[in-house]
Amino acid sequence: MQLPRLHQHPWMDEQIEAFRDQVRRYLDAEFAPRLEGWRKQGYIPREVWRPFGELGFLLPELDEEWGGAGASLAYQLVVQDELAKVEAPANTAVHTIAAHYILDYGTPEQKARWLPKLASGEMLAGIAMTEPGCGSDLKAVRTRARLDGDHYVVDGAKTFITNGFTANLLVVVVRTGDAGAKGISLLVMETENLPGFSVGRRLEKLGQHASDTAELSFDGVRVPRSHLVGGVEGQGFAQLMSQLTYERLLLAVPAAAVIERAVALTVEYTQSRKAFGQSLADFQNTRFKLAECATLAHVVRSFVNDCIQRQLDGTLDAEAAYMAKWWCTEQQCRVTDECLQLFGGYGYMAEYPIARLYADSRVQKIYGGANEIMKDLIARKLLAG
Ligand SMILES: Cc1cc2nc3c(=O)[nH]c(=O)nc-3n(C[C@H](O)[C@H](O)[C@H](O)COP(=O)(O)OP(=O)(O)OC[C@H]3O[C@@H](n4cnc5c(N)ncnc54)[C@H](O)[C@@H]3O)c2cc1C
Repeated sequence: MQLPRLHQHPWMDEQIEAFRDQVRRYLDAEFAPRLEGWRKQGYIPREVWRPFGELGFLLPELDEEWGGAGASLAYQLVVQDELAKVEAPANTAVHTIAAHYILDYGTPEQKARWLPKLASGEMLAGIAMTEPGCGSDLKAVRTRARLDGDHYVVDGAKTFITNGFTANLLVVVVRTGDAGAKGISLLVMETENLPGFSVGRRLEKLGQHASDTAELSFDGVRVPRSHLVGGVEGQGFAQLMSQLTYERLLLAVPAAAVIERAVALTVEYTQSRKAFGQSLADFQNTRFKLAECATLAHVVRSFVNDCIQRQLDGTLDAEAAYMAKWWCTEQQCRVTDECLQLFGGYGYMAEYPIARLYADSRVQKIYGGANEIMKDLIARKLLAG
């Protein structure tokens, strides 16, 4: 069964569709055959992102002067959509987020120094917020950056950092001032051969096996003062908060892609597998489940498309983005679970894509702001009147 293309939307013009085809062809040829090897080794080598960047797929939304194509954010979201469809993990989503902090708040020197290399793939970025003692409660960050002449000296630890092992540039959330949000700043580190910086364990995860997730430690790391994002201390929390609508979309878009893929895989499987003298797809329960999941696929895609359109128009409010994050990722987990069930024991086998989709999906409800935090933020706005 081919899902009807109900998800066509005004923001998808012919140029974007041509770009999407180009990305898809590249991923089918260069990523799909190599992903299993990357899953086994636990990371995607940094060099892989070089041709990806050179083709204009890493940061198409940057202006040409920074190495991009001057395209709209829709192009980046299309790349994320296609990556999710081939089951590639979210490494470039965090790369993008890090680049956008530099783009939006960096000094002209900082933009010139890092953005072209981030766009070309010469540099791969990570964003290091979470610490062993604080995740959701970001204001409690303890990694300390103390000014010493024209350098900051950084001490502390981070955990769960995507690209922590492969990145050579990190945007690190540090405490430059007193407790609370006003004492937080963003500091850029070029991590290759950086004394005092070390990558600890590459963490073993339930899913997302091709993505490296690492512990990091900072022991007297000296970082030039000129690497403070925006050049003014205490802006970090506000800088982090003002990117949130776009960052939430970076999670909702792959949710839509994974749901569609799960439904397509399950439609195919249930038609071919026989039980009790008929195909699984002939059982009424299967038909109802498929209908429910296909309906969710359409509703999620419609919601995501609407959010993308509003993001492009500059009218996407934070609460709609929080809704998209929590609701789409919940549906992703629900649909992958329902679909896996229809595969029976095969659905539990790692070699079956549906098993990977199920395991890979789970983290979507946790990272990028746990879903409970999203709901709390929505409720806060509602109750504020
Ligand atoms: C695979 C993976 C990749 C990651 N990549 C990155 C990365 O690149 N950079 C980075 O900085 N971090 C990253 N993270 C960390 C991630 O953002 C955090 O795990 C997440 O923010 C939750 O923080 P925590 O794990 O400390 O959980 P906690 O903050 O301890 O929360 C645990 C649970 O408590 C509940 N809870 C917490 N606060 C509230 C509240 N106010 N109201 C109601 N319920 C609440 C929620 O259910 C929540 O899931 C990654 C995590 C994973 C698993």
